[in-house]
Amino acid sequence: MRDDHTYGGPGGELRCQDLVELVTLHLEGGLGDRDRARFAAHLDACEGCRAYLDQMRRTIWLTGQLGPPRLLAEERAQLLALFGALGGQI
Ligand SMILES: [Zn+2]
Repeated sequence: MRDDHTYGGPGGELRCQDLVELVTLHLEGGLGDRDRARFAAHLDACEGCRAYLDQMRRTIWLTGQLGPPRLLAEERAQLLALFGALGGQI
C-alpha cells in the first residue's frame, strides 16, 4: 500500500507507518533525540496517530504495565487503512 501521508519536522518527515513502527521504542524510552523530535512533530499534526498512541498507552496501563503489546498484523493493517482514510482530510 502506498502511503503519502507525511509531515515535515526536524530531521525529516515521518510517515504514519514509521510512527507505528517506532511507537514501541517510544514507549520504552528508546528513541534518540532526533527521532523523538520527529515523533513529536508528527503527533502534533496527526490526529490519527495521537489517538493510536493514546490507545497504546491505555492498553499498556490496563495490562498492568507488562510492557508494550506486540501489534498484531491484522490490527496494524486496520490502522494503516484508517490512516490512509484520514490522509485526505488533514
Ligand atoms: Zn500519523
